[in-house]
Amino acid sequence: MDFSNLFNNQKTVVRLIKNSFDHNRLFHTYLFNGPRGSLKMDGAIYLASLVLCENGGACGQCEECQKLDKWGNEHLFIVSPDGDTIKKEQIDNLEHEFGFRSDKTRVFIIQQIDKATLSAANTLLKFLEELPDNCFGILTTENINKVIPTIRSRSQIVTFLPISSEVVRKELEEKGIENELASIISKLTNNMSIASRYTKSKILEKFIELVKALSEEIEYCGDPYLKFMEMGQFIYTLDRDKARIFFDLLVTIQDDKVNYLINRKDKMTFKSLEYSNINLSKETEIEILEIILKFRERVDTNANIDMIYTQMFVEIGKVLK
Ligand SMILES: [Zn+2]
Repeated sequence: MDFSNLFNNQKTVVRLIKNSFDHNRLFHTYLFNGPRGSLKMDGAIYLASLVLCENGGACGQCEECQKLDKWGNEHLFIVSPDGDTIKKEQIDNLEHEFGFRSDKTRVFIIQQIDKATLSAANTLLKFLEELPDNCFGILTTENINKVIPTIRSRSQIVTFLPISSEVVRKELEEKGIENELASIISKLTNNMSIASRYTKSKILEKFIELVKALSEEIEYCGDPYLKFMEMGQFIYTLDRDKARIFFDLLVTIQDDKVNYLINRKDKMTFKSLEYSNINLSKETEIEILEIILKFRERVDTNANIDMIYTQMFVEIGKVLK
């Protein structure tokens, strides 16, 4: 198992876990809290590899460690939501697996524990209370406020901070991704594996081309809606997640113009754009940015996406008149 990503980006967490392990002070139940992409699962597997290893901790060589690498270690159980929730039966199964006494250390991981139904959570609580000494549990969540208080208080909470866009950008550049694309992707996600996927995404390429064209159209007080209809037809077939990417790019490029105008060029993402051609005033650029942000928020609601595009470009068009 390659933990270099975890070691580089979650130094505090690693130190904390390793230190507790070295001093034989590991808790039996952990609650790993942090946003998506903050490497909570890597942290959980790392903890598992410390306690399961036959050579004193995460050696990477012994049978237990090797099996972890292939995600097929019979001493590690992973539970994740079945559909939208973690169901009581899933916790019953877990309890059943751990029901027999064993000399072997065992670990379970429950992902997105906040999705546990109330009966699942209550079953889990009882299970945690009776957990044998050589068993360790790691619960993960992106939303600690939705974890029921009795589970929170029963666990040692470990906070995973988001990985900064600067770190993502640097890692992409180290992998040979050119500077502007690396900057753009780092603004879209702080999840390294998603970021790597984006580097090969044809859709992202088309989005970037589209937002650059729209941005230019805005600068020359053209008709951004017409431009969108001309170039953006492919967007209508895409789902909401993809729409979010488009909006995030639009926010980023507009934000760049404002940063340019207030002399914060180091904050700019779309570095290749010729900003010396900015024609609009700072006030107008900010006004447009606010419109885009307003409609970006609507993407996260149930609002009809096609309507969001139309209304947004109509509103921007009015500012340009
Ligand atoms: Zn080992």
